[in-house]
Amino acid sequence: MTRLHGRGVSAGVAVGGAVVVVREATQIRYRLAASGVDRERQRLRAARDRTRRDLEEISERLARTIGPAQASIFAAQGLMLDDPLLLKRADELIRTDRINAEWAIERVIGDLQATLAREGDEWLRERGGDVADVGGRLQRNLRPEHASLADRILDIPPPVVLVADELPPSVAAQLDWSHVTGLVCDAGSPTSHTIILVRSLGVPAVVGAGRATHLVAPGQTIALDGVTGDVVVDPDDDVLEGWRHRAALAASAAHAFDALRDRPATTADGTHIRLEANLEIADEVARVRDAGAEGIGLFRSEFLLDMDGADEEAQTATYRSLLATMAPLPVTIRTFDAAGDWRSVATRGPAHRDRFGVRGIRTVRHRDERFRTQIRALLRAADAGVLRILLPFVTTGDELRGARTVIEEIARDLGVATVPIGAMIEVPAAALTIDALAEHAEFLSVGTNDLIQYTLAVDRTDDRLAREYAATSPAVLRLLRTSAVQARRSHCEVSVCGEMAADPLLVPLLVGLGFRRFSMAPAAILGVKHALSALDVRQAVMLARQAVLARSAHEVDQLLASMAKSMREAVDSSAKEPA
Ligand code: PEP
Ligand code: MG
Repeated sequence: MTRLHGRGVSAGVAVGGAVVVVREATQIRYRLAASGVDRERQRLRAARDRTRRDLEEISERLARTIGPAQASIFAAQGLMLDDPLLLKRADELIRTDRINAEWAIERVIGDLQATLAREGDEWLRERGGDVADVGGRLQRNLRPEHASLADRILDIPPPVVLVADELPPSVAAQLDWSHVTGLVCDAGSPTSHTIILVRSLGVPAVVGAGRATHLVAPGQTIALDGVTGDVVVDPDDDVLEGWRHRAALAASAAHAFDALRDRPATTADGTHIRLEANLEIADEVARVRDAGAEGIGLFRSEFLLDMDGADEEAQTATYRSLLATMAPLPVTIRTFDAAGDWRSVATRGPAHRDRFGVRGIRTVRHRDERFRTQIRALLRAADAGVLRILLPFVTTGDELRGARTVIEEIARDLGVATVPIGAMIEVPAAALTIDALAEHAEFLSVGTNDLIQYTLAVDRTDDRLAREYAATSPAVLRLLRTSAVQARRSHCEVSVCGEMAADPLLVPLLVGLGFRRFSMAPAAILGVKHALSALDVRQAVMLARQAVLARSAHEVDQLLASMAKSMREAVDSSAKEPA
């Protein structure tokens, strides 16, 4: 039994068999059921045959075009396929250790490279590169139809706990999460899009678990707590029993607030607070209705880009069904908050630059056809329900005016009415010039996830900076207060849709700062409703006044802790009062 510790980022307790995925989910490791061994050996043989054909073709082509010396490199790679230390050994591992073929190849390649590296002979050491090349080709040829993690996971008997180094959102978006009970990541952060997605699906998750992908063997039983960040690998029987009990308790606690579902969110002193839901995957819309949300406050449409759903007809159908399902409640659809290869987890190079580059509303001025296609699809779907269009990554009023002009032009071309247009407030420049933005927007939505990272110059996905990424920083709170005050003065509706809104401890602060509308993961709605029911707005205003004048995030955290304590005491004493 081994214990690991990380950061709980999605509440709940999960117990299951580990499936390990590494290198942006291009490598998957799992243990086979006894009945799956023959099929796996067959896959290995088929991959060997394809690899042999590939290498013969390459070698013949090079012999014709460049020369025999280059061709011989690949002929030699072909000979490696007959080396008993490679495929014969991989086949043996599949039979004896019951591991999947990708993992078997990874292991034999690792062993061969280690042996070669130990050789004194430089020529032999350099062959390590060829061995890796052949191994990579064999692994690709195991999945000739490019069957992805999403396909493979369906073959593995549930319950599965995924253990990943880092899981890109594009992969997470395609997975069938009903087959996965929990997620443990070596790295990651609570506001990465992968974690936002799993939280909204109610899948328990722990990030920052260090070397989990090295320490957990595929097939081992693993248990995790998405609140405390505790992870236990291969628990003893009695410990496992305890975890199963915790899982059952966590599931029943999730139902404890069920009675609040059909009641509007109201503070203790009777102020109505509007709670809407964030949604990433359109098919999950039932969760929004089940949570008793008053609408969709943020649909992150860029997930459609990962699901082959981005052509105009497919988008129109998706939006129509979303709008019709939610009608008469409003649906706020954010246009693609994407640029190039923005989902990559790379932190350097072009992918990193895209995070700060031609992204969100900036694509309009750069004449990105994708924006126009999306607007056409949105406006064509609009009559199915109550649509609002939200524009991401807004910095200036001019940008907003430009985008509005394009939207109005498209509406005229289609002969349809335009719809309310809103701006995300997630760049400090926007938060400081709300009055200018409000001239061109019917509503504003504060994205605290990005607002925090750009205010504090802390990459929200960098787990090394988890402490610096402080939602309670007085600088962030002052920007939020300015936003709320300016929006009220400009008579413009404003809401908060970042992860701060989903935190029952931070919502009182946001109410005190002047916000009355929030949008959050469906799974967070009942907890926030519960927290609001114990809140006195005057108390929240006092708290916010002190918080914006605080000298540090730590000071604000202390204020919040004492407020939470007095709210809890109020709830406890009212529960004790005789009826
Ligand atoms: C935000 O930035 O707070 C937000 C809601 O958008 P996203 O998390 O998709 O960047
Ligand atoms: Mg954002």
